[in-house]
Amino acid sequence: MREYKTVAKAYPKKRPAKERTQDYYPIYHNFEENEAKAQASRCLQCPIDLLRGLESEFTFCRTGCPLNNNIPRWLKKTYEHDYTSAFELSNARSPFPEILGRVCPKKGLCESACTLEKTSYHAVSIGNVEVYLNEKAIEEGAVPFYGRANERTFKVAVVGSGPAGLSCATFLLRAGIDVELYERENRVGGLLMYGIPNFKLPKSVILRRFEWMKNAGMKVHLNTEVGKDVSLSELQEKFDAVFLGLGVPLGRSAGMENEDAKGVHHVMELLTQTQKNLLDHALQQSILRDKHVIVIGGGDSAMDALRTAIRHKAKSVTCVYRRDEASMPGSKAEVVNAKEEGVQFIFNALPKKALVDENRQVVGLEILETYLDENNRLQTKEQSTQTLSADSIVLALGFEAKRFSFYEELDLAVGRSNTLIVDENKETSHPFVFAGGDVVRGANLVVNAALDGREAAFAIAKKLGALSDPYFNL
Ligand SMILES: Cc1cc2nc3c(=O)[nH]c(=O)nc-3n(C[C@H](O)[C@H](O)[C@H](O)COP(=O)(O)OP(=O)(O)OC[C@H]3O[C@@H](n4cnc5c(N)ncnc54)[C@H](O)[C@@H]3O)c2cc1C
Ligand code: SF4
Repeated sequence: MREYKTVAKAYPKKRPAKERTQDYYPIYHNFEENEAKAQASRCLQCPIDLLRGLESEFTFCRTGCPLNNNIPRWLKKTYEHDYTSAFELSNARSPFPEILGRVCPKKGLCESACTLEKTSYHAVSIGNVEVYLNEKAIEEGAVPFYGRANERTFKVAVVGSGPAGLSCATFLLRAGIDVELYERENRVGGLLMYGIPNFKLPKSVILRRFEWMKNAGMKVHLNTEVGKDVSLSELQEKFDAVFLGLGVPLGRSAGMENEDAKGVHHVMELLTQTQKNLLDHALQQSILRDKHVIVIGGGDSAMDALRTAIRHKAKSVTCVYRRDEASMPGSKAEVVNAKEEGVQFIFNALPKKALVDENRQVVGLEILETYLDENNRLQTKEQSTQTLSADSIVLALGFEAKRFSFYEELDLAVGRSNTLIVDENKETSHPFVFAGGDVVRGANLVVNAALDGREAAFAIAKKLGALSDPYFNL
C-alpha cells in the first residue's frame, strides 16, 4: 500500500469511438486484476478508526461518499486479493456497490475527498476498483446477505423500484422485514433500467441484483401502478409501513413554439424506447435512423440522448445549449465522449421555434444567439435568428416532480415544487409512510437515492422494533 509515488492514477481502458458507436455495450472495460491491485495499492490508508468521530472536521474518501462507505478497508482487501472480505465490506453500507461504482460522479464525491487528490498525485480510482472487486467476488461465488426469510415478522410495501426503492428494500430485508415491491413498469430499476443507457450501465447488473432479492423472498408486483391498480390507502392498511420512491417523471419544457409537433420527443421517450427495444431484441423500430437530430440541453441526460442518437445511426446529431461550454452542468468526460463519437455542439443558442411542414412534422429549429449581461443574466441578441434543419428534436432539459393525485388519499404534505415533504427520518406527514430519492429531493443522483432508501429502512426498522442490521457497522 501507499504506492502513490510509484504507481500513477489510471482509469480502465476505453473502446475506440468507431467501434463503440456500432453497439450499445459499455464503452469502458473493467480493470484487469493487476490494474485493480495497482490502483488499490496507491491508497494511503488514512487511519479511519482513529478518525472516527472526527469525520466532520477531517475529510477523506469516506466523508465524500454519501453512503460513508468504508473505502480504505475494501481497497486494502482488494490489494491483498481477499475479494470475499472486500465484497462483504463494500456491501455493508451500500445496497449495490457494483452499480454505484459505475454510475457515481466519483470526481465530485469520494475521489474529490481522497487525501491524495489534495496533492499532485491525484485520487485513487475508487469507483473503478469498487466495480472490479465486486465483479471478481461474484465470479468467485459471493452473494450479498439479505437477511433470513424465517426471521421476518413485519411487512412493508415499497412503491417504485428505482435506486431509492431497491435500496430501501435491501436494508429492510437485512433488518428482517418482509418486502412487497410495486412497480408500474414491466421491469425493475427505474432510471437505472430505462434512463441511464446501456453503454454506461449494463442492464444485466441490475437484473442480477433483482434475482438475488427475489430469491431472498421479496415479492414483486410489476405493471402495477399505485393510484390506479391499487390505492395508497389499501397499501397503508395492509402493510406495517409504506415507502414511496416514485422519482420525478415530468420532463421540463423548452418553452418554444410548436413543442407539440410530430418529431419532438422527450429524452425519456427516446431512452426508454431504446432500452426496451434492446432488451426485447427489436431495435429495428428506431425513431432516429437516417434523421438529422437536434438535442436541446447540456446536462448528462442530454449527453445520453446525443450518444444514443449516434447509435441509432442518425444522419447528424447536434447539441444546442444556451450557455457556453464551460457552463455545461454535467460531467466533462461525457462531453468528451460525445465529441469523440461525432456529436456537433452549438453553444450560446436558445431554441425559439420548432419549424414544421403542413403536417406539423418538424423540419427545423430556429435559434437565437445568447450572451450574459452585466448582471450575469442570460439574454438573446436581437436579429440573431438562425435556422438549423432537423427531422427530430429531443428535449433534455431536466425533470420535475409530479403531484400524484393519490397523495390526497392520506393527505401527504407536498412542497412548492411538488416534491414530498419528509422529516429527518424520511417519514412523510402521514405516520408509517416514508419517502426518499428524487420524489423528495427533486432530480438528483443514484447514490443519494440509495442513501435515502437506506435511511428510511433504518427508521422503519427502528419504529417497528425489528432486528438490527448485522453488517452495517463493518
Ligand atoms: C437520462 C438520465 C441519466 C442519468 N444518469 C445518472 C448517472 O450517470 N449517475 C447518477 O448518479 N445519476 C444519474 N441520473 C439520475 C438518477 O437516475 C436519479 O437520481 C435516480 O434514478 C433517482 O432514483 P429514484 O429511485 O428516486 O427514482 P427513479 O429511478 O425515477 O425510480 C422511480 C420508480 O418509481 C416508479 N413509479 C412511479 N410512480 C409509480 C406508481 N404510482 N406506482 C408504481 N411505481 C411507480 C417508476 O416507474 C420508477 O421505476 C440520471 C437521470 C437520467 C434521467
Ligand atoms: S458509492 Fe459512489 S461515492 Fe461512494 S465510494 Fe462508491 S463511487 Fe464513491
